[in-house]
Amino acid sequence: MADMSPKKTSVAEQDPKVRARNFDEVTLGYTAEQAMQEAKRCLNCKNRPCMQGCPVGVRIPEFIEKVSEGDFAAAYEIIRSTNSLPAVCGRVCPQENQCEGKCVRGIKGEPVGIGRLERFCADFMADKKTEADRPEPNGHRVAVIGAGPSGLTCAGDLAKLGYDVTVFEAFHTAGGVLSYGIPEFRLPKAIVAAEVENLKEAGVKIMTDMVIGKVFSIDELYEKGFEAVFIGSGAGLPRFMGIDGENLVGVYSANEYLTRINLMKAYKDDHPTPIRKSRRVAVVGGGNVAMDAARSALRLGAEKVYVVYRRSMEELPARKEEVHHAVEEGIEFLTLRNPTAVIGDDEGRVKALECIEMKLGEPDESGRRRPEAVEGSAFELECDTVIMALGTSPNPLLRSTTPGLDTDRRGCLLVDENEMTTKEGVFAGGDTVTGAATVILAMGAGKKAAQSIDAYIKGKE
Ligand code: FAD
Ligand code: SF4
Repeated sequence: MADMSPKKTSVAEQDPKVRARNFDEVTLGYTAEQAMQEAKRCLNCKNRPCMQGCPVGVRIPEFIEKVSEGDFAAAYEIIRSTNSLPAVCGRVCPQENQCEGKCVRGIKGEPVGIGRLERFCADFMADKKTEADRPEPNGHRVAVIGAGPSGLTCAGDLAKLGYDVTVFEAFHTAGGVLSYGIPEFRLPKAIVAAEVENLKEAGVKIMTDMVIGKVFSIDELYEKGFEAVFIGSGAGLPRFMGIDGENLVGVYSANEYLTRINLMKAYKDDHPTPIRKSRRVAVVGGGNVAMDAARSALRLGAEKVYVVYRRSMEELPARKEEVHHAVEEGIEFLTLRNPTAVIGDDEGRVKALECIEMKLGEPDESGRRRPEAVEGSAFELECDTVIMALGTSPNPLLRSTTPGLDTDRRGCLLVDENEMTTKEGVFAGGDTVTGAATVILAMGAGKKAAQSIDAYIKGKE
């Protein structure tokens, strides 16, 4: 019998005052009892609307039914059959716009906590994994560029089909944004490392500190015997506003700021990575990246952290849960404000952010109401650090070193319906094709590309 409660089973979280000063995970996850209780809220709808909201088609009602019966291993296997990174997706997917956004329970109350249940199954099984069967090698070699969610998913799926796959990663650690962008308090790095280990056990070779386009070109990968290439190089090039003062000491891109903290461990006392000890921080932007930068700045000891966003709270594109957590932790949202200049002191250090007030006009091409400046409303926000979280685009290195690789005007690689780029045998997916998007969309693209690469190589046989 389903539980008719309109509310999700609540989950334990670190106290906001305590967690605002540490990098430990904020949300602690369901116990087995809580997971079974939450699973009983699922109505097992016939037309399965939640599944239509999931970009990789997780068989949601089926796995939830297994959770309600206490058969967590079976639930995990159902999830894993279509989603190779459930511990990650359960934590970072924007569920409110995906599966949970379609859940019938959400019409009159709160949707079933699909993400939390997915996370529970993955965490429950983390130390109970059985050894993966290695398929017979099929004698074909594929190179994957970038060890983010798209590249890792593509590599894992190809290895399952018997391919000899090598992933080339520019950084010293695999994981892409999961390692260098999303902070420890949202996605513990041990989880990412465990997923990477699983892939290695399945036969995937991962070579770090290998910047393709510098160490080897894509054409040289072919000369080395690879028969197809997948590009999953993401969109790591930060955008700036082009306003005065962006070169002052104390202005960071969110990418640099978060990379120093997450990948280079600047938040740990025993790591030498330098990072500014800020007192008052202004983060510009309203997405997940802005939330992560703001909450990281707070944890590094800032007294005051502002998020400056040019639209209103309703338009904030970040995951709902992250905004809720940021507010609880004391981040102040200055919405309907837009920076016009960064102001420095005599030594070239940030001392304030000049902003102007905004109002919302008619909807623009994105369907959101266009922010318009309110004349005569300029003001100065005192701060010593400014972090720009305005979006990113793909790094131009690969397209500039690979003849025949075409891009659109934003610098995103062009692909056909099989994820093949304009260069034969070279496939691509994830943020490098779509521009900055989500983990699960990148994984979906890696999955599709693996199938296309298999068909391409078999077609040549
Ligand atoms: P990436 O994860 O960017 O991985 C690309 C990899 O390729 C990197 O490791 C890079 O070093 C490597 N690379 C690049 N060029 C080369 C080269 N020439 N040679 C070798 N290697 C190369 N999405 C969500 O769904 N939920 C969230 O909560 C969320 N939060 C986010 C928070 C932050 C701070 C950021 C930055 C992004 C967030 N996203 C979130 C977006 C999500 O992480 C990305 O959409 C996703 O990681 C894209 O995956 P990808 O595989 O395309 O690229
Ligand atoms: Fe269960 Fe909600 Fe999906 Fe219906 S829509 S099957 S209630 S999770």
